[in-house]
Amino acid sequence: MPAGVVVAGASLAGLRTAFDLRAEGYDGPITLIGDEPALPYDRPPLSKGVLSGEDTEDSLALCTGDEISGHDIDLRIDTRVRRVDLERRTLDLAGRESVPFDDLVIATGARCRRPAWYRPMRGVHELRTLADARTLRETLSGARSLVVVGGGFIGTEVAASARSMGVEVTMLLREPLPLAGVLGLEVGHAVRDLHAAQGVDIRPVIEVTELVGRDAVEGVRLGDGTVIVTEAVLVAVGAVPQVDWLAGSELHDPRGVAVDERGCAGARVWAAGDVVRGAQGHWAKAVAQAKTVAAGIAGKAGTARPVSVPDYFWSDQYHHKFQVLGEIDTTAPFQVLHGALDSMSCVGTFGNPDRITGALLIDQPKNLGRMRRLVGRGASLAECREEVV
Ligand SMILES: Cc1cc2nc3c(=O)[nH]c(=O)nc-3n(C[C@H](O)[C@H](O)[C@H](O)COP(=O)(O)OP(=O)(O)OC[C@H]3O[C@@H](n4cnc5c(N)ncnc54)[C@H](O)[C@@H]3O)c2cc1C
Repeated sequence: MPAGVVVAGASLAGLRTAFDLRAEGYDGPITLIGDEPALPYDRPPLSKGVLSGEDTEDSLALCTGDEISGHDIDLRIDTRVRRVDLERRTLDLAGRESVPFDDLVIATGARCRRPAWYRPMRGVHELRTLADARTLRETLSGARSLVVVGGGFIGTEVAASARSMGVEVTMLLREPLPLAGVLGLEVGHAVRDLHAAQGVDIRPVIEVTELVGRDAVEGVRLGDGTVIVTEAVLVAVGAVPQVDWLAGSELHDPRGVAVDERGCAGARVWAAGDVVRGAQGHWAKAVAQAKTVAAGIAGKAGTARPVSVPDYFWSDQYHHKFQVLGEIDTTAPFQVLHGALDSMSCVGTFGNPDRITGALLIDQPKNLGRMRRLVGRGASLAECREEVV
């Protein structure tokens, strides 16, 4: 009896790999192992509708129990993989059980980065899991103020959700502008103005040195010694790949698992999603990588989209939808083709005039398909201007 495919990590990338394997015609055993207590669920709503109350927890499910059994997948939830033995080709689970594999898929995602000053205490939050979202929502529903440390996507989305709940928000950034690190200074200015107009107090170029408080947080101390008094803090300063269980194997690297264009990390070892080295935490990329890995395992590599297709991710803030395509060169000027950045409705491109590399659409879903094609073939700015309406 073959051991089949064992997938470590039962969330977006792991589940999609398992489903795609069946779609590719793979009929061997599939075991999907995850350490969370629930069926796989979607994370993007955790910083948006789940906090504001627009999404219910039921709407997060990525699958039903019937779909799992219909695909003949042995799903083990609430089960942590402790270690891999690549020679014996086994995974050790918590509770001393050992699971053999023919192919191993690493899909253990990422966890929140913790700065040196981080201390867990009441009122201090991270946001990665449904459990994190529940406790953050509970805190926000009784809090007057929130300090968000970090001006990336999660920080800005939570700031927007908290404002919609009537919570006063202070956002502390290391950088000069929110989202500038990913979308450049021009877009960063517009995002700052959007949040400022909604009452967020944005403090740029700030170093946090300490969380103040004993059992519950009372404030955040800054590099100049001042303390911002607050009863709630969200620490949103990035994510790191969850690779601790790979320690002792040749695959272990804190930067994430290195893969080739087929998603292959070694002899019949594969990886997909946020655990992959260089992943930037994008939903669509995790889905595309899962498809590529499934095709590779099923022996159909080349039929799936290669991992290097133009990337896509989105963000929702104050009912504005940001959609980002391709590679964003934050040093190149952002060229608006349609609409206006300061009115939060536009299509713009990144790259040089001869060849665009990426695009940002704000509240322009009708142009998404068109821009995807233009970015995909590296069109010129002039071609883009002709096509965008
Ligand atoms: C709050 C939030 C908002 C987001 N919003 C957006 C968005 O708007 N747009 C966008 O494009 N992307 C967004 N993302 C990113 C997107 O959700 C991720 O790219 C996606 O979840 C990656 O899926 P994954 O399966 O690779 O990793 P994960 O979703 O992190 O899943 C990994 C799973 O493996 C489990 N695991 C880890 N270690 C072990 C172990 N040793 N044993 C067993 N199980 C283990 C984890 O508990 C987890 O269940 C958001 C992410 C978060 C957290």
